Amino acid sequence: MTKRQNEDDIVRVDFGFKRLLAETVEGDLANFCYQCGACVGDCPAATYSEEFNPREIMLKVLYGLEDELLGPDSVIWECTNCYACHERCPQQVKPVEIVISLKNMLAARGDAPDVVNRVIHTFETTGRTVPYSPAIDKQRAKFGLPPMGEVPMDEIQALLEPATEGEAT
Ligand code: SF4
Ligand code: SF4
Repeated sequence: MTKRQNEDDIVRVDFGFKRLLAETVEGDLANFCYQCGACVGDCPAATYSEEFNPREIMLKVLYGLEDELLGPDSVIWECTNCYACHERCPQQVKPVEIVISLKNMLAARGDAPDVVNRVIHTFETTGRTVPYSPAIDKQRAKFGLPPMGEVPMDEIQALLEPATEGEAT
């Protein structure tokens, strides 16, 4: 094996990206992941997708592989945010919160999928992630539920305002 081939085999840790990611996740616990795979067992995305695997995502996070985590082929959006991995992880690494931070990074770069952008727009304009329709209230009535109430848009918009410097987030 040549020296050049050896260099190509080396995976270099990107500490800069790891630090950037750590700033967005409370507790910065990613380094405690010991690759046990417990987060994979109950992960619905891993069950139904050939590409998505939270343990593999955590391995890429450990190495800081920004291009693979946030590249055009990123599988991050397949995560359903169900929090099963959060409950299963023996190290309390909070893999789902790391995945959410990665999604937020992609969205901030304008690289969220169209379907996600549509949900964001619907939420910003109506306070709901799914547009209201009278059929929803009819369905609720069948289950004895009251009609959906008004959404307090002023409160939603206040929450969506970026925090000013020095203000608690
Ligand atoms: S939150 Fe995402 S990564 Fe975690 S178990 Fe659910 S789908 Fe899988
Ligand atoms: S995130 Fe937790 S459950 Fe998943 S591989 Fe790492 S230590 Fe194991």
